[in-house]
Amino acid sequence: MAQKTALIVYAHQAPGSFNAAARDVAVQALAEQGYRVIVSDLYAMNFRASATQEDITGDLKNPELFQYGDETMHAWMEGRLSDDIVAEQRKVEEAELIIFQFPMYWFSVPAIMKGWIDRVLAQGFAFSLQKMYDNGIFKDKKAMLSFTTAATQTMFQPDGINGDINVTLWPLQNGTLHFCGFQVLAPQIFWSPAHCPLTVRTAMLEGWRARLRGLLMEKPLTFAPSGMFDLSFQGGFLLQPKVKEEQASQPYGITTGHHLGKPLPPDNQTKAQSANDNKSDCSN
Ligand SMILES: Cc1cc2nc3c(=O)[nH]c(=O)nc-3n(C[C@H](O)[C@H](O)[C@H](O)COP(=O)(O)OP(=O)(O)OC[C@H]3O[C@@H](n4cnc5c(N)ncnc54)[C@H](O)[C@@H]3O)c2cc1C
Repeated sequence: MAQKTALIVYAHQAPGSFNAAARDVAVQALAEQGYRVIVSDLYAMNFRASATQEDITGDLKNPELFQYGDETMHAWMEGRLSDDIVAEQRKVEEAELIIFQFPMYWFSVPAIMKGWIDRVLAQGFAFSLQKMYDNGIFKDKKAMLSFTTAATQTMFQPDGINGDINVTLWPLQNGTLHFCGFQVLAPQIFWSPAHCPLTVRTAMLEGWRARLRGLLMEKPLTFAPSGMFDLSFQGGFLLQPKVKEEQASQPYGITTGHHLGKPLPPDNQTKAQSANDNKSDCSN
């Protein structure tokens, strides 16, 4: 049987960080399962975060008005993207599983990882209007976020100071990963490791190791199937009236984003329907 490949896109500056430890646990646990593990260590690579004309070689289609999305799509079709982008795209193609390992920055990923997303997941390579969400290009691949926070879990509860973590995760998990077709596994959240005692930090890493052993058997998170929508500009890409009718009697919205003005479905962006709770937090 062909060897499976996992890609870890990793963004932390310090080799002694908790993120580095989480990355190392993943490398080891996946290698033990026979995976070839590739790590893109973005800071060590000095990966460029900004999306500019330098990402394209050769003539621009429209030098008068530079449009990054159009130009990179044409460059991808014609093999004119810069070498650093092409190298990352090869890794994505080879990987069955992608783990993004990072410290939460401003409720999102660090800029260097956002740059990887902006530049590597180019139109044509990662998505098109015909191929998005559950018809997306990477629908046979799995992806997940694994990240640390300074905040405690309670701070990210619906009644906590930061608001609901499910809302925070929606743009990255739905708008990026699921948009490109990935089956999105539940996030691995290491709540506030810097404020936990060593025993709790060690338990978090052991919990991660245990989870990795069964990761590929996990069900992905639930998103609204594209078939629920009228996929045309004429129809506004809106929910089909029939689906709206069917949903009217449901107590919760369909997903965190498609809430239809109703209570959010609990844990929609943090737990797969039948997944175990793998989270630990020294604050509760
Ligand atoms: C620009 C910016 C924006 C931010 N925005 C947010 C935000 O929006 N929300 C939020 O919650 N936080 C935010 N933060 C905080 C940030 O998310 C945390 O500082 C980060 O997640 C902590 O992870 P770390 O890997 O850097 O921890 P570290 O400080 O590296 O590690 C924590 C502890 O774990 C120890 N450790 C390392 N290896 C191991 C090991 N093998 N076993 C046990 N212990 C180990 C370390 O020695 C340290 O004591 C932000 C930070 C910055 C700089």
